Parts: sequence; C-alpha cells; structure tokens
Amino acid sequence: MASEAAPFAKTGGLGDVAAALARYLVRDGHDARLFLPLYGRIDRKGLVPVGFLRDVPVRMGDRTFTFSVWSGALPQGGPTMYFVECAPLFGRQEIYSQQGDEHLRFGMLSRAALESCQRMGFAPHVVHCNDWHTALIPLWLRTIYKWDRLFAETKTVLTLHNLAYQGGFPKSVIGDLSLRGFENLLHQDELRAGRVSFLTSGLLYADALTVVSPTHSREVQTAEYGFGLDGILRARGVTGILNGVDYDEWSPERDRHIAARYSPQDMSGKAACRRALLAEAQLAGDPQGPVFGVVSRLTSQKGLDLVPAALARLLASDDVRLVALGSGDQRVAQSFRDMERQFPGKVRFREGYDEPWAHRIEAGADAFLMPSRFEPCGLNQMYSLRYGTVPIVRNTGGLADSVTIYDPDTGHGTGIVFDSPDASALRWAAETAARLYRDRAVWRSIQLQGMAEDFSWTRQIQEYTALYRRLCERG
Ligand code: ADP
Repeated sequence: MASEAAPFAKTGGLGDVAAALARYLVRDGHDARLFLPLYGRIDRKGLVPVGFLRDVPVRMGDRTFTFSVWSGALPQGGPTMYFVECAPLFGRQEIYSQQGDEHLRFGMLSRAALESCQRMGFAPHVVHCNDWHTALIPLWLRTIYKWDRLFAETKTVLTLHNLAYQGGFPKSVIGDLSLRGFENLLHQDELRAGRVSFLTSGLLYADALTVVSPTHSREVQTAEYGFGLDGILRARGVTGILNGVDYDEWSPERDRHIAARYSPQDMSGKAACRRALLAEAQLAGDPQGPVFGVVSRLTSQKGLDLVPAALARLLASDDVRLVALGSGDQRVAQSFRDMERQFPGKVRFREGYDEPWAHRIEAGADAFLMPSRFEPCGLNQMYSLRYGTVPIVRNTGGLADSVTIYDPDTGHGTGIVFDSPDASALRWAAETAARLYRDRAVWRSIQLQGMAEDFSWTRQIQEYTALYRRLCERG
C-alpha cells in the first residue's frame, strides 16, 4: 500500500512506482492488492463500493473513525485497487495536507488495509509498505494485530523511496496510533526527545528493508546520506533494487501526449516533438544548440537552484533553450521566473504539475537536467534515455546506476555525469552537452545507446519476487 498510485494520485516517483510494482506483480502471476486513500481529488466514476467493507469502525485514540472501501481497476490492467474512503481524513483535495492530522490520515490507511484483509479473509504472504506513510504496519502486526492468526505467516517489506520524509510527530500521538502500552517497542532515543517516527518504527520491525537503487543502498548507510538513520540501516541491512520504468506509459513509440511518435529506427518524430515543444513554450525558432529540459519537484534535493548560475553563460552566448516544469520551493520557482525575464525567448518555466507537459518535455528536449544532491532512484533520467533525450545527471544514487558517462575515447556512454553538487560542475556538464550536440553523429550515437537501455519492470520485478520468496522460505 502507498500514499500515491498513478494515475489516481501522484506527486512524484512514488506514485509511478507503487502502481507499476503492483501491476507487474499481477502480470507475474501474484495476487497483489493495492490500497490507496480515496482522496477528494479522485474521480469516483467507475469505482464500485465493496458491500462488506462499509462503515467499518476503527478506534484511533479517543476517536472512532469509520471507513468504507471502493474497488476499481488500474488502467492497463493490474491489481484490484482498494480505495479507502474516510471523508474527515481523506475528503480534502490534497494528497498531503497541513492540517496537523497526517498521522491519523496515513495511520488510517494502514489500519484500513489490515482491517480489510481481515474481513476479506485475505492472508497476504507479504505486506509491502512504501515510505513512512505505511511504515507502522510491521509494528502493528507485532502488537495490536498479533492476536490474529490470519497474519501469522505474513512478512513485511518496507521500501524507502526517500529518507528525507520520515513521518515524525510529537509523542502525544502515541494514543492516536493505538501504541499506548507498547512504548518500549518504539525507538527510545526518539521517545526521550519527545517524538515518534513512523519511518523509524518500520526500519526497526519490517522483515526486509529496500531502497530504490543499489548505489543509494550504500549511500544511506553513511552519515552524509542517512538522514540520521544510517546507524539503524547499517545494523539492519538494506537491499537496493533499482526502480523499473513502465514503458507502457513512457515510450516515444506509444506516448499519447506527444506531437509525433518515434523510435530508434526513425527519429524524425523527435524533431517534430522539439518543434512542437518550442512552439507550445512560445520560445524562439529552431536553435542551433540543445533544448534543455527539466521536470521536477522543486526541492533542495533536486539541486535546481544551481541551474541559473550554471546555464547563464550558455544562455547568454549560445543558441540554446531551457524548458522547465515544476512546483514546490518558491525560491527556486522565482529563480526560474527571473531566468525567463533575463533571457526572453530562450527560457520557459511552467509552474505546476502537468502530466502531458512532462511527456512533451521528455520527447521535445535534447538534453535533460537532473543535478540532484541526492537521488534515491530518479525516474526522469530513465524516461529521458528512452526518449533519446540525453540525461545530464549528478553521480549519485539511482542516477549513477542508470546513466553511464559518455567517453569520447571509446564512444560509449548514455549521458553526461558530474560529481560535485555545485554550479561549476553543472556548468561543465551543460557546456559539454552543448559541445557534443554540435557533432550530430556523436549526439545520435549517445541517443541511440540510451534508447537501447532496458529498465523495464518485467526485469526489476524479479528482484522483488526473489526477495519475497526468500522471506517466506525463511519462515
Ligand atoms: P521524485 O520521486 O523525487 O519526485 P522521480 O524522478 O523519482 O523524483 O519521479 C518524478 C516523477 O514525477 C516523474 O514521473 C516526473 O515526470 C513526475 N513529475 C515531477 N514533477 C512534475 C510536474 N511538475 N509535472 C508533472 N510531472 C511531474
């Protein structure tokens, strides 16, 4: 279960991954069921109420909430989706909210999933939790649900998509989380500091921990990237499994959002997508240099604050363009707006969340910028590879695992990779891209090597099922 699942609810990679993981598990013959809150923004058309899961009471501290479940299908097949309806908690439009009750909202999602399993008589071999929102389940299975033999054989996997979000709350929420009397099982240092954290409890009690790339699995065990959790992660051990790409959604051969379809055999559609993107972004003409693309949440993680200084020289002197889409941190948004003003006709920043635009930037740009300070996996660089849009990435996490630096001596490589999280390193990378772009044969060869990479879920799902199998056999 997860707080996001595309296309119903998505703010970032978690939404893509949770949906794809469940879909490919089903394709691999497993009986996967995916629970998601019925957020106010989700259209109920096509959803069917589950008769025996109506107005089910769940006690959370002094309050009793009731939930009902609606079932629906993921587009393009896959698992039965179960949408948890609880209007006081999920009825609002936003996925994440600022009303001070996030612990109740995501506590409810997890409780509702377990209560639904009980009423369905469904004994999962594995409950796969994603990020802090569902990370209390391993502890609850050892405490308030311990009596139920239905879960006697159930194993738990917690996948950490982003350690920066830990679900920490004041310890006054312990009652709301039905954990009074179990304080000795919580992380004692946190408790002494007056806090409880969903994620830490998952790190302590899940049967297996995974992060979303092999490089990041090593990084999170260091103080630099561990967000204070590296000690627990070293003690418990963590497996890195690279996210897959859902090529049904993200392929230039099939993409329904783009101006023209294309493939490695016939790249003419990419030129049409470039023209269409420049026209839609109201940018000038047919530049000699590359069109750079950005699609991102705007947070300090993504390193986009480095872009203005890194691109200033190129934008001033060369015939390049920048098309950026993103929402979040207002300082970063403002710096992109400032670039628009400073380089009229050369820079377009679209603020907001816009799925079709994300696809059109992937298809229409020549190079894609991901200067992340840390990146557990990152999906856009893998989408970029498939779209022949050369990724420019920092050498960290999943970026390091999916993009190989172009080596002019051997002619091998799929992108431009730089080490330091600073503007001069990114400037080097962007200017290298602009230089390579001028040699069309070299550029085409980098594009084609990237397009030939295969990060499909069909492969990655095997790593998860092997992990599930190991856990279940361990007994
Ligand atoms: P993260 O999960 O840290 O946000 P990822 O690269 O793993 O980063 O995944 C980001 C996903 O969210 C991609 O599918 C990307 O296209 C999408 N995305 C991010 N920002 C936007 C936006 N403003 N509009 C549309 N899609 C976006």
